Amino acid sequence: MNFKNFKFYLNTALFVCLFMFQGIKTFSQEKEKELTEPRVMQPGKNGKAPSDAIILFDKGSLDNFESIKDGAPANWKVRGRKFTVTPGTTDIQTKQAFGDCQLHIEWSTPVKDVKAKKEGQGCGNSGVYLMGKYEIQVLNSYNNKTYFNGQAGAIYSKFPPLVNASLKPGKWQAYDIIFTAPTYTNSILKTPGYFTVFHNGVLVQNHKEIGAPTTSANKNAPEGVSKLPLMLQNHGNEVSYRNVWIREL
Ligand code: MG
Repeated sequence: MNFKNFKFYLNTALFVCLFMFQGIKTFSQEKEKELTEPRVMQPGKNGKAPSDAIILFDKGSLDNFESIKDGAPANWKVRGRKFTVTPGTTDIQTKQAFGDCQLHIEWSTPVKDVKAKKEGQGCGNSGVYLMGKYEIQVLNSYNNKTYFNGQAGAIYSKFPPLVNASLKPGKWQAYDIIFTAPTYTNSILKTPGYFTVFHNGVLVQNHKEIGAPTTSANKNAPEGVSKLPLMLQNHGNEVSYRNVWIREL
């Protein structure tokens, strides 16, 4: 190759590189234009609610809940910063409907169930129903055997938890639930719903696809919608709840 040819090839290579660089730069600028800047918010500390959460229960009253039966005020027992399932009353639900969300809820199963030698599904049973339809089981699963897809952290009757992260009855435990609601077009399922669940900070359900409603779902919950109230189950055991907040996604 003589010097003239070398100069020609060098100039061509430089031109191609410059062209490619401009192309990449323009592409990334265009891509950036499609993104929106993440909203600034304040995270909560030690399980407390982040600044953009809807507080469903903090203390004092169950004003954000109602009976599922007739919309009457939720009449579970409230004591300070906790509320407790009251046997003989109904399931309760939020007044507001939710779809895609991040839910934090703390719960504690009663020691007196253990003292009364209740066992299996009869010991500390309650449940957190997203959209009133899909239950994450609440149960005393500390030294209390039952069917695997019915223990604490299970998507009831469908998926057992990945591990049993249960604490003793009387201790406060936490669920952090990421829920993607199913979507519909003209009442026909378009995309399925999904659950990811942490129990006491441990992953117990990893992006599990939800199908039909779990058993004991709210039978009045309509089909083909993507937002419905959150329901808490009265299974006759005096399970307590506290620090309930939700972030719509
Ligand atoms: Mg239950």
